[in-house]
Amino acid sequence: MFSLNSVLRPHILTLMPYSSARDEYTGKEGTFLDANENPLGSTTTQGDYNRYPDPHQWAIKQRLSPIKGVRPGQIFLGNGSDEPIDLLVRATCVPGADSQASDSILIMPPTYGMYEVSAAINDVDIIKVPLTPDFQVDTDAVLAAMTANTKIIWLCSPNNPSGNLLQAEAIRTILDAAQQSLVIVDEAYIDFADTPSWTSELDKYPNLVVLQTFSKAWGLAALRLGMCFASEELIRVINKIKPPYNISAPTQTLALEALNHEAEKNEMVRQILAERQNLAENLRSLPSVKVVHPSDANFLLVQFVDAAATFEYLIEQQVIVRDRSKVKLCDGCLRISVGTPDENERLLAVLRQMKDAPSSINLPLGTGDEATRPELVSTT
Ligand SMILES: *Cc1c(COP(=O)(O)O)cnc(C)c1O
Repeated sequence: MFSLNSVLRPHILTLMPYSSARDEYTGKEGTFLDANENPLGSTTTQGDYNRYPDPHQWAIKQRLSPIKGVRPGQIFLGNGSDEPIDLLVRATCVPGADSQASDSILIMPPTYGMYEVSAAINDVDIIKVPLTPDFQVDTDAVLAAMTANTKIIWLCSPNNPSGNLLQAEAIRTILDAAQQSLVIVDEAYIDFADTPSWTSELDKYPNLVVLQTFSKAWGLAALRLGMCFASEELIRVINKIKPPYNISAPTQTLALEALNHEAEKNEMVRQILAERQNLAENLRSLPSVKVVHPSDANFLLVQFVDAAATFEYLIEQQVIVRDRSKVKLCDGCLRISVGTPDENERLLAVLRQMKDAPSSINLPLGTGDEATRPELVSTT
């Protein structure tokens, strides 16, 4: 039986949160002399920002609730996903990575780097159970590796950097088995996948936490707005430890407006998916490409014959992709975001011309033009 109290750090249970001016009086009308704000206005011509924003972002949560099929009280909004990632570690894990008492988190490389960084910042032990070579959960190994002190099991689905969804069956097995841990499913890329979100399972699994973000499909990375969905009980705890005004007024205003444009988000997703398909097919036809991994996200993990030379050449041509070639199970791989049709064409054009360039990949000899082609340079 899962009990939230046994997953939380003991002092968090009794913690008294900061009570902000906006917590203590929630009416909208009145003479507000309670928050030491500037009553005269703001030093910007772009609007009035002299009043503190709603610390609980109720307008956004009310609007998100029907869109996501969760109750407003099951929603936490953070300054990017980074904030709930950090808060969840801090709420659950007793630090002291070298001591006996330390708690741990469990991650499945290759995956998003912030889980590990957040644990390291908080001096929390990290248990690593690699994904299988086809980037799926090694369920038996996970169950064998987790301990009574493992407070968080991180799952990223669709996974970054591999791009694929994790099998639902494996996630379910872990949710059932991990009764001493939170099981956090990071769905930053869920809009690009054709499966429903795990949010529909929140009422069934009190240990389940789902992360989503406005940074990808909604096109709002610069606003820094992440979503965390969980039991009302857990959301209350995260609210206790968050910075009081963690979401700025402009972010709240713009996010609320964006939520009126869900159809446009869906249309952008449709275009990106069509481009993903097109880009994957074109990449597969290039001799410098070994494997284009299947993707349920807005990027492709691509294995090249010579990733280092390809990466360098792309940089020279001012096409910037992410080098994942040193990452576990990602030998020779670059991660490529799906761009606009023009951007994807540019990438493909540069890759096609690469074989004629000085720092080009090592094509087999005897194909005709090698006499004029200088020796190849590999940077690794
Ligand atoms: C991009 C991404 C996020 C989003 O992070 P934000 O802080 O919300 O911008 C979260 N998780 C994964 C796996 C990502 O790739």
